[in-house]
Amino acid sequence: MKVLVINAGSSSCKYQLFEMDSESVLCSGLVERIGDPTGTLVHKIAPGTGKEKTVRLEQHFTTHVEGMREMIRLLTDPEDGVIKNKAEIFAIGHRVVHGGEDVTMPTVIDAKAKQMIRDNFIFAPLHNPANLMGIEVAETLFPGVPNVGVFDTEFGMGMKADAFMYPLPYSLYEDLRIRRYGFHGTSHKYIARKTAQFFGKRPEDVNNITCHLGNGCSMTAVRGGVCIDTSMGLTPLEGLMMGTRCGSIDPALVPFIMDKKGLSAIEADTLMNKQSGLLGICGTNDMRDVHAKREKGDNKAQLAFDMAVWRVKKQIGAYMAILGHVDAIVFTAGIGENDAFLREKACKGMEDLGIVIDVQENSTRKSGVRVISKLESKIKVLIIPTNEELEIAQSTLLVLGK
Ligand code: ADP
Repeated sequence: MKVLVINAGSSSCKYQLFEMDSESVLCSGLVERIGDPTGTLVHKIAPGTGKEKTVRLEQHFTTHVEGMREMIRLLTDPEDGVIKNKAEIFAIGHRVVHGGEDVTMPTVIDAKAKQMIRDNFIFAPLHNPANLMGIEVAETLFPGVPNVGVFDTEFGMGMKADAFMYPLPYSLYEDLRIRRYGFHGTSHKYIARKTAQFFGKRPEDVNNITCHLGNGCSMTAVRGGVCIDTSMGLTPLEGLMMGTRCGSIDPALVPFIMDKKGLSAIEADTLMNKQSGLLGICGTNDMRDVHAKREKGDNKAQLAFDMAVWRVKKQIGAYMAILGHVDAIVFTAGIGENDAFLREKACKGMEDLGIVIDVQENSTRKSGVRVISKLESKIKVLIIPTNEELEIAQSTLLVLGK
C-alpha cells in the first residue's frame, strides 16, 4: 500500500512516497522556489539504499500545481518511475502546522477540516495557508484519493490547562485562544512510540523527556504516551535557544527594545525569530559552524554553545520534576542525533538524579536507536532518529482504518 506524504511551504513542496508494507521510502523530493524563474526540483529514487538515483531539474514552476505535476511525471516515468500509475497511491498525508484546539488527532480532509485550517491562519500565517494550498493541489491532481492532515500542534493538545495557559487576563484566551499549543508534535509523538517500543512496553506505561534539537528546538514531557508539557508555546518561538530564534526571554524586553531601538512590531518579531539564538550570539546558526569557531577559540561561539546547553539542561530538570518518574531522556533531530558534545554536557553532573551518561558510547558514531547511558543509569539516555514523514504516513493509514 503506497502513501504519499506532502509538506507544502509557501514556495516549496517536499514529498516522500512510502511503500507501507515495508515502511520503505520509494522516492523523495523537493520542489523549491516555486514562482521564481530559478526554480528547482530534486527527485531521489530509492534514497539511502545504496541504489539511490537523483534527478535534478532547473525549471520555472509558476505554481505548486506545476511543481506537483512534474513530481507525478517523475513518479510515473516509464524508465525511472517507482509506480506505473498515480492510481497506485492509496492516500496522501499532509503536514499541517496549526490545528488550534479542535484537532486532537490526524484528520481526514473535508470541508470542515479545511475551514479549521483556515481558522488557524492567524496563528501560523506563513505555514497554514501553504499547507492548505498543498491539500487543494493534491485534491485537484489526485481526484478520489483521500487526503489526511497531520498537525504539528496535535500532540500538544495532551497538555492540561495548568500547563497550557499563560498567566495573562483570562479574556485573551476566551477572545483569541491565546494559550500554549506546542509544535514538532509529529516528531515528539513518533519518538514517544519508539521509546515505548525500545522498552518493549505500551506507550501508556512509559514516561520520557524528548529533546528535539534541530534548527528549531523543543522539548516534551511525556507521561504514558501523552504530552503533558512542551517547551514551545503559542508560536514556535518559546522555549529553548535555537538556530536563529531566541526562545524564552523576559517579555518586558520586547516593548523595551522596540522603544529604545525604534522597532516596529514586525521588526521586533524578525529580530527574535531570525536574528537571535546561536546566530545572534556568535554570527552562525549552524551548530557545526558554532563548534568549528569554538574550537578555534571564538569566545562568542563558546558562549552560544554553553547557553544552548544550559537551557536544555534546565528543561530536563523541570520535566523531571513534573513527571516524577522518568524512564528515558531521548535526543533526536540534527543536533540531538549528531552532537555528542552537547548531549554529554546536557547530561553531565546529573548522576545523583539518576542520569549517568556513557561518554565513550555517546561519542561513538552509530546509526539507529541506541542507548548512551551506563547500565547503572536509572534513567536511560537514548538517541532515536526522528522520522516525521513516516509518522505522517502511518497516521494517514491509521485514520483511514488501515
Ligand atoms: P530542522 O529543524 O531544519 O529540521 P535539523 O533537524 O536538520 O533541522 O537540524 C539542523 C541542525 O543540526 C543544524 O544546526 C546542524 O548544524 C546540526 N547538525 C547536523 N549535524 C551535526 C553534527 N554532526 N554535529 C553538530 N550539529 C549537527
